[in-house]
Amino acid sequence: MSLKEILFSTMNAFNCLMKWFPLNMKEPLSLINMFMFWSWFIIIFYNYFKTIFLGPSFLRKRWRPKNKEDEKYLQYCTICQGFKTSQAYHCRKCGRCISKFDHHCPWMNTCIGHVNQTNFCWFLFYSILGCLHALLMISPCVYRVLFIPYSSLRINEPRIYFTLTGLISSILTLGFTIGVIIAVGLLLIIQIKNIICNHRRLKSFIYPYNLGFKENICQLFNRIDYFNLITDG
Ligand SMILES: [Zn+2]
Ligand SMILES: [Zn+2]
Repeated sequence: MSLKEILFSTMNAFNCLMKWFPLNMKEPLSLINMFMFWSWFIIIFYNYFKTIFLGPSFLRKRWRPKNKEDEKYLQYCTICQGFKTSQAYHCRKCGRCISKFDHHCPWMNTCIGHVNQTNFCWFLFYSILGCLHALLMISPCVYRVLFIPYSSLRINEPRIYFTLTGLISSILTLGFTIGVIIAVGLLLIIQIKNIICNHRRLKSFIYPYNLGFKENICQLFNRIDYFNLITDG
């Protein structure tokens, strides 16, 4: 889900919102609807950029544990010329070792790791809510235009008009929102499962990392730990 797709969908959903549920200052529901619509948008963008700018937490190049004895328990990265912490993994696309590596996100062009995983999960969660809201605004508009003739509408029912481009864009957005709800929903389930089990995509590791449900969740929200001492962003 790239930035262009988010903007494209938001604009089309807003176009449908103004046709189907236009802003009316005297109607509280219409105000709430508008407020929620733009709230999703702001929260999604906030978490999108925060995930990118925070970064996953790259391990320092040429990092070594303080105690030389510990080196035998750690894997060595020949590219970064340093030791990897227990759940670190070298990302070829970023060219660095990532602390608590989860995956490399091609849409954000950064890795998801120790520091930015929380914002990434919020991004996924609010993207689903935003898409559900967009779906509620777009589908009645498209349905009415395609399947209900104007002559059968009552006088007080809204008449919805689309240009051909507007209609095609709305249908495309409809498909996009459904796809996002399914795909992002699955990704979010995997993320939550990984967080709860403290599971990372590592080929091999020496110690188990499942510290229990509560501690695994706490690790996600508590970033002030020893990782801060050995990472640089
Ligand atoms: Zn590396
Ligand atoms: Zn990466």
